[in-house]
Amino acid sequence: MKNRIFKTMALSTIIAILITTLALSVYISNSYLTETKTIIKHEAIQLKQLLENDPNYLDNELITEARITLIDANGYVLYDSNTKDLENHLDRPEIKDAIIYGYGESLRKSDTYNKNMYYYAVKLNNGEILRLSSYSNSFMGIFIPTLTNSLFIMAILIILCLLLANYQAKEIVKPINNLNLANPQKEDTYEELAPLVDNLNLHNQMRKEFSANVSHELKTPLTSISGYAEIMANGIAKEEDNKLFAQKIYDESQNLINKINDIIKISKLDENRIDLEYQRINYSQLINNCINKLEKFIEDKHIKVNFTSKEIYGFAIVYVMEDIIYNLIQNAIKYNKNNGKVDIDIKQDRKNVIITIADTGIGISDMDIDRIYERFFRSDRSHSSNIEGSGLGLAIVKHGINLHNGTITCDSKLNVGTTFTLSIPKERKR
Ligand code: ADP
Repeated sequence: MKNRIFKTMALSTIIAILITTLALSVYISNSYLTETKTIIKHEAIQLKQLLENDPNYLDNELITEARITLIDANGYVLYDSNTKDLENHLDRPEIKDAIIYGYGESLRKSDTYNKNMYYYAVKLNNGEILRLSSYSNSFMGIFIPTLTNSLFIMAILIILCLLLANYQAKEIVKPINNLNLANPQKEDTYEELAPLVDNLNLHNQMRKEFSANVSHELKTPLTSISGYAEIMANGIAKEEDNKLFAQKIYDESQNLINKINDIIKISKLDENRIDLEYQRINYSQLINNCINKLEKFIEDKHIKVNFTSKEIYGFAIVYVMEDIIYNLIQNAIKYNKNNGKVDIDIKQDRKNVIITIADTGIGISDMDIDRIYERFFRSDRSHSSNIEGSGLGLAIVKHGINLHNGTITCDSKLNVGTTFTLSIPKERKR
């Protein structure tokens, strides 16, 4: 992480410095060139006016750094401030242009000085051409030295930025590394890490509540087991009661095992410690398997289960899907009235398998219905009716449905019954 932050910061600053230096060098070179041209043009126009007023003006001592040349209409040099004996100038591009258009300019190597010069020529009223020129490098001639000079400053800047990026990357990562995961404090971090700290705190809080609930859930059956066993061990119980107590111990042990199994399942789902292998499953077969496993409960409560098998297939994680359907049918029996009814239906549309499990049981109050998927939630009626359970079944169902990218809805009316509807994509979640 630290390396990634450092690399990104370093790369972006180096690119920024390179672009800025390049852009600045272009700008400086351009400005220098424009400035030279403007000065020469300005002086040429001023001198043109002075010469037109006074043809002998060039005899005066002129204060200018520019070279001044006066050429007649045939290209012969009448005057040159820097050299004598100049050849015919009619072939010079700026002179040619000035004769035709009234003015002309050129940036080129001077035949006389062998240096880059800027020339500006204007035609006077009498047909003569006045030309001013000044030493001026080409664009590249200015740009290359400007850039070379900037390279040194650029190198220092890059080194400074690399040091700063390294320091910043360390500073960003330090509070994360030093964070006390068991008890993170916002004061130990910076503002942007506040959501992380909140999440960790929430997670810790949930973990603490989970542990407290687990202990509580396990303690109840263990206390009963211990109580019955103590009575039997002390020999206080009558001979005929011993069998009853042993049965109670057996039932409570089963209850304990079921709770522990549920806790293991939800923990595995939480930690993604499950095998996510998707297989093609026959949903009707899966439902029939669950009904068969629950046969004893169905008979004990004289429940009528209606289910018509249909050939419906889909891809799912088999044992998670089996847990989902088993839990829902088990609840439909557990929370049913004696001689009640459970209707299971299965259908499909283009994308989903839709399963409904409807019972004629005790129902769920409006107040409780939003909480049924919460971990360890059990309605007061489940407690008071002495119906065994961990309160984890529907949490496992919901988790499993989410894993398959499906949906679950619940409709219920107190004392009338409850309907759960599942919609599970037939294809594997991508
Ligand atoms: P458990 O059944 O182990 O208590 P669940 O998570 O399966 O836990 O269910 C949570 C609560 O939701 C149950 O305690 C019960 O109050 C309510 N519930 C679930 N299914 C039904 C149902 N079919 N009819 C009535 N109440 C139900």
